[in-house]
Amino acid sequence: MDFRLEKEITDLVGLVSSKFDPAYWRKISSEQKFPEEYWEALAESGLFGMIIEKKFGGMGRSILDLTLAVEETAEHFAGLGSYLYLSGSLVSQMFEVCGSEEQKKSFLPEIAKGKLKISIALTEESSGLDASSIETTAKRISKEEFSISGRKIMVANYDRADYIILFARTSPKESSSSSSSQSKTYGISMFLISVKEQGASFKAKKLEKLGMDFVSSYSLDFEDIRVTSDHLLGEENEAWKGAARVFAMDRILTGASLVGTGKLALSTASEYAKKRKVFGRQIGSNQGIQFPLADAYAKIVGAEILVHKAASLFEAGRDFLTEASSCLLLAAEAAGIATDRALQTFGGHGYYKENDVERYWRDVRVHRVHPISEELLLATIAERSLGMPRSY
Ligand SMILES: Cc1cc2nc3c(=O)[nH]c(=O)nc-3n(C[C@H](O)[C@H](O)[C@H](O)COP(=O)(O)OP(=O)(O)OC[C@H]3O[C@@H](n4cnc5c(N)ncnc54)[C@H](O)[C@@H]3O)c2cc1C
Repeated sequence: MDFRLEKEITDLVGLVSSKFDPAYWRKISSEQKFPEEYWEALAESGLFGMIIEKKFGGMGRSILDLTLAVEETAEHFAGLGSYLYLSGSLVSQMFEVCGSEEQKKSFLPEIAKGKLKISIALTEESSGLDASSIETTAKRISKEEFSISGRKIMVANYDRADYIILFARTSPKESSSSSSSQSKTYGISMFLISVKEQGASFKAKKLEKLGMDFVSSYSLDFEDIRVTSDHLLGEENEAWKGAARVFAMDRILTGASLVGTGKLALSTASEYAKKRKVFGRQIGSNQGIQFPLADAYAKIVGAEILVHKAASLFEAGRDFLTEASSCLLLAAEAAGIATDRALQTFGGHGYYKENDVERYWRDVRVHRVHPISEELLLATIAERSLGMPRSY
């Protein structure tokens, strides 16, 4: 399997990437700023609309195309900054899968143009991986109106968001009719909240974190936010099914982003290994330097093939959950190894920000716990492929 991007897309990705070198990403990260200029360049290129249907202003490309574009963007210095495609694609898919025709018509063209930034607010103090335990509640106060109260944490890019997709319970967990795990998520609904209109109701607090410095995370407290029922995204009480499919697809794109970032770390390290002389010889001529980098490269390529397989299965409309879970698991592990070896190759210099590898190392760590932890990926694979008892 050797998938390649069409020239038209490669040129677009190359054009955007060429304007943003490692120094740009270093600066953005050290200042903990959102990469506004990068977002604008992506918006201008139309790449935000890659997988949005043509009738809604997108390019109508496949997930596989997007996967390849994300990988290439990550490798061309953006690293996990390629996540900006992902967040755009993730929310566009929420609309594609769950939205009404009217919502698709009004939101998708704006998302494709990069005019709308939309954050996702699912996680809470008491519920991370177990989404069924969310406590944020949307109470119907009339036939048409809901009142939403609760607390969300780790909401990425809230400070840049025009809208939030807010998950809330419209029926309590206890109301689930059977004990099957699928039904635990009955009662979860998604609401589209305009930050412009309702932002004043959110008490937002910025959270400090280890890496991904170009993304800010917030906790949000809110009480009695009033919205009408046309703000529901997907069916009342039944939003999880559609959302879960989108989150599963996100595993493939996150895997692609990790593969590209792993390759970026390895090319940065091998360039350095060719130049750096210690004891009168290039450090790259030592097998002690070469082999771990080569081993990491082989692991990255293995993960890459699985990313492509998962994307192809998704595209063919086949069951893709095991492959999507496996590709994220392996890509996160491989990117962790690749960035660690890259840092080691730089010696003490690797610990300093000017050489970028410490940033790649910090950044990729996130994807062993987010959007889903490696334990839950393993539990999914154990259940689905090995027939083991479900543990989640
Ligand atoms: C940088 C970053 C950005 C994020 N952005 C967002 C965002 O924009 N919006 C949003 O809603 N959320 C966001 N999150 C939250 C993220 O998705 C959650 O942190 C993640 O789902 C894990 O949930 P948790 O931290 O509550 O872990 P928990 O659910 O508390 O799990 C804790 C540990 O227990 C393990 N565990 C639990 N059950 C089992 C089991 N059955 N078997 C084995 N191990 C188990 C887990 O694997 C994990 O290691 C973000 C997180 C990060 C780090």
